[in-house]
Amino acid sequence: MGRDYEYICKNCGKKYTFTFGIGYFYPLDYDKTVEAIKNGDYGQEWQQLSQTKDPFLVDIENRLYICNDCGNLQDETCLDIYELNDKADKENIKEPYDIMFSHFIERWAEEEEEDDEGCHLFKRYPHKCNRCNSTSIHQATEQELEELPCPNCGTLNEYEAAIDWD
Ligand SMILES: [Zn+2]
Ligand SMILES: [Zn+2]
Repeated sequence: MGRDYEYICKNCGKKYTFTFGIGYFYPLDYDKTVEAIKNGDYGQEWQQLSQTKDPFLVDIENRLYICNDCGNLQDETCLDIYELNDKADKENIKEPYDIMFSHFIERWAEEEEEDDEGCHLFKRYPHKCNRCNSTSIHQATEQELEELPCPNCGTLNEYEAAIDWD
């Protein structure tokens, strides 16, 4: 379940696309990502948190990140870590991916209401620019997606199409 944003640069003609959301094999993808975190593929801190936090809740949604230093655009797995709310029924806990899936659906539906039984953000994953190595990088906002600079020449372009997929 997600959305593809497609842009065609009005200056240089470059076509660029970004994919958001989660794949068809969400539970499988979830397990694979957690496995990689436990193996230390995403750094020591995340490895440690995966061992100490129970349940271990991690956001595996694909998002767009923009480098504050060089403007590079990259879509990556979010990897932010979440924590259960106090009122969540810990005895009756579902699979971690179920909890994160519900959270994803709420955000997708833009239902940002307080949900006592849900979860909340614990820590954002420290993303790094894959062009200049800067750690000053942020998640693209809805507003930025409306007008995104061309990775080739920097011209701001509105998207040509936003395609939702199941
Ligand atoms: Zn361009
Ligand atoms: Zn950069």
